[in-house]
Amino acid sequence: MERIGFIGLGNMGRHMSANQLKGQRRVAAYDLSPAARARAQEAGCEAASSVAECVSDVDAVITMLPAGPHVRQVVTEEVLPNVKPGTLLVDCSTIDVETARDLSDICHEKGFRYADAPVSGGMMGAEAATLTFMVGCRDDETYAAVEDAVRPMGRAVIRAGGPGAGEAAKICNNMLLGISMIGTCEAFALAEKLGLDWQRFYDIASKSSGQCWSVTTNCPIPGPVPNSPANNAYEPGFATAMILKDLKLAQACAASAGAYTPMGAQAEGLFSLFDQLGYGNKDFSAILQLLRGKLAELA
Ligand code: NAD
Repeated sequence: MERIGFIGLGNMGRHMSANQLKGQRRVAAYDLSPAARARAQEAGCEAASSVAECVSDVDAVITMLPAGPHVRQVVTEEVLPNVKPGTLLVDCSTIDVETARDLSDICHEKGFRYADAPVSGGMMGAEAATLTFMVGCRDDETYAAVEDAVRPMGRAVIRAGGPGAGEAAKICNNMLLGISMIGTCEAFALAEKLGLDWQRFYDIASKSSGQCWSVTTNCPIPGPVPNSPANNAYEPGFATAMILKDLKLAQACAASAGAYTPMGAQAEGLFSLFDQLGYGNKDFSAILQLLRGKLAELA
């Protein structure tokens, strides 16, 4: 695989496309945002002026877009009419299972291979090329091609099952993440009320049974994890609007599958409140300030 078309150069896509360059691939890159395109050009990608230009002469197209409607529109209206026969399409966005399955069918009918391959690891994982990819696709041959396409961007590629299974796994994972971030923030807020020094509590929790990604990688308090968003005014990172989208997807899945997910529902309610208060663009770890009753610190 030599040439990649990359669409969606935001918090995740900007780093993922740069890592494709480090994998010695030529990368054509497109985003609606001119600033994102300029940044990609500076990093060494060929900035395209449209999706059509971005995908017209590549071996694989990778999309990293906000949500299902964006992916459906870009793939069906802009990618499929403009790619060469045989091009592999890999969507790494977190979207609903139904859209992923539909797109797999649409691509299959038109003779293209398609996979949903959402990622875990956050912006730091995207930058360090340590993402985990969870892949849903029709067959072994497509999976082998996806493994090759995403290899420069991650350290683990795992097949979740057939079309949509990657998204199903990602939605379950992110419900757990939303719950664990709120639990982590509640623990730091309680530690403060009990007069504990935050750094000392971090030293203990990070080596005890409370340890999790929300504590040791995306730590919501400034200090212990230097590159966590808490040290950068809670600039995302992983935006509150994004975790809320994922928690809504999880609740929709739970309702249709008949699963009982009370903590997932609570997490959705709290992030929904935080979003409505105007903090959708802050990293999701900033919900600490809501739980501390100190939203003014986020101004
Ligand atoms: P982002 O909002 O930073 O980036 C999305 C980019 O897509 C933006 O630059 C936007 O301009 C571009 N875009 C939107 N519509 C477009 C279109 N029609 N054509 C071209 N470009 C378009 O989002 P992000 O944080 O990079 O997340 C992207 C996806 O990855 C989401 O589905 C998210 O849930 C998932 N994800 C994010 C993280 C994270 O930590 N940020 C982690 C794992 C998964």
